[in-house]
Amino acid sequence: DESLASYDPEVHAAIRAELDRQQSTLELIASENFAPVAVMEAQGSVLTNKYAEGYPGRRYYGGCEHVDVTEQLAISRVKELFGAEHANVQPHSGAQANAATMSALLQPGDTILGLDLAHGGHLTHGMRLNFSGRLYDVVAYHVDDTTYRVDMAEVERLALEHQPKLIVAGWSAYPRQLDFPEFRRIADLVGAYLMVDMAHFAGLVAAGQHPNPVPHADVVTTTTHKTLGGPRGGVILTNRSDLAKKINSAVFPGQQGGPLEHVIAAKAVGFKLAASPEFRERQIRTLQGASIIARRLTASDMAEAGVSVLTGGTEVHLVLVDLRDSELDGQQAEDRLHGIGLTVNRNAVPFDPRPPMVTSGLRIGTPALATRGFTVEDFAEVADVIAEALVPAFDEGTASKLRNRVSALAAARPLYPDL
Ligand code: PLP
Repeated sequence: DESLASYDPEVHAAIRAELDRQQSTLELIASENFAPVAVMEAQGSVLTNKYAEGYPGRRYYGGCEHVDVTEQLAISRVKELFGAEHANVQPHSGAQANAATMSALLQPGDTILGLDLAHGGHLTHGMRLNFSGRLYDVVAYHVDDTTYRVDMAEVERLALEHQPKLIVAGWSAYPRQLDFPEFRRIADLVGAYLMVDMAHFAGLVAAGQHPNPVPHADVVTTTTHKTLGGPRGGVILTNRSDLAKKINSAVFPGQQGGPLEHVIAAKAVGFKLAASPEFRERQIRTLQGASIIARRLTASDMAEAGVSVLTGGTEVHLVLVDLRDSELDGQQAEDRLHGIGLTVNRNAVPFDPRPPMVTSGLRIGTPALATRGFTVEDFAEVADVIAEALVPAFDEGTASKLRNRVSALAAARPLYPDL
């Protein structure tokens, strides 16, 4: 018997326990989702055995005729999905898509302008300890201290002052849409490339529920596992044929060796699903769920508890809860929700007075629950549960009632019933 259960009971047990965790709790981490069984089947396939350095039709290994098919499907489908002329589907992750893009466009020491990590940017947009912060000269832009929206006047001012070679638009924790035409205008003003990292909102774009950055940016990068709902991985898109070749060689041989062809096949499956009417309907519910949570957390009982929502609402799949006036810090709020079966992550809010390991915020996202089939009524119940957990009246009695309500929601929307 070569099954995982008999060969490696320790790993098998941990995987079963993780399946149980996913099924019995409610996943509200904004960057997570539940990959469909078809995606996981492709990802767990024999394609993991194949070396395929190079690109479809131009490989450095023999026997690539079948992985050429799956990789070409992934390329054609993602181009169609986002209206892009060129696609590289090989980056192992979003971070590697960004690393490859920057190495295609920049020399070490060049200046990049990206959103500050503490204001919702990503590590790869110039954080000090990340490759981006070590290789490039980083200037950060911020959100405005009253509106909490990206301060485009500051972006323009910093661009004129520092003449960056690359401007990065994109975020990991920001509840609003970015103004891509305005970023384009500023990039053109100083002759900078514009890279949009749509990792978080790619699923919304695919479903026509968010502006598409592809027509505005020189390069668009994304992950495939967040709102897009596919396997873990990265993709790079461009409409510029003069950049497509540079990007391909920056991915391989620049950053990576053999592509993960099993993951690329799973990306192809994910892109097919993302083009379906069901996916569109799911992204609409994702947005509705986030709006419902934002509305509930801006009600008067929450204001009394010192809880509010950054920017007063959301236009995307996540809500940023501001706990600076609450008795709870981010860590305590995360722990409290975890205790009743809700998984969220604490998140620094801009101008956060608390240290990064504690924070004064929560990031709450709805993609995973929307995939699980949550309706607007379900999201209203989730929103109420969150609200009741974050007020000072919360005690052990409340906790046990809320735990039961969470269990009932989880039971009503079974996840992976056949696994
Ligand atoms: N870009 C953005 C905006 C992200 O939020 C993330 C992940 O959180 C990444 C890139 C990196 O993706 P990965 O974790 O696949 O490297």
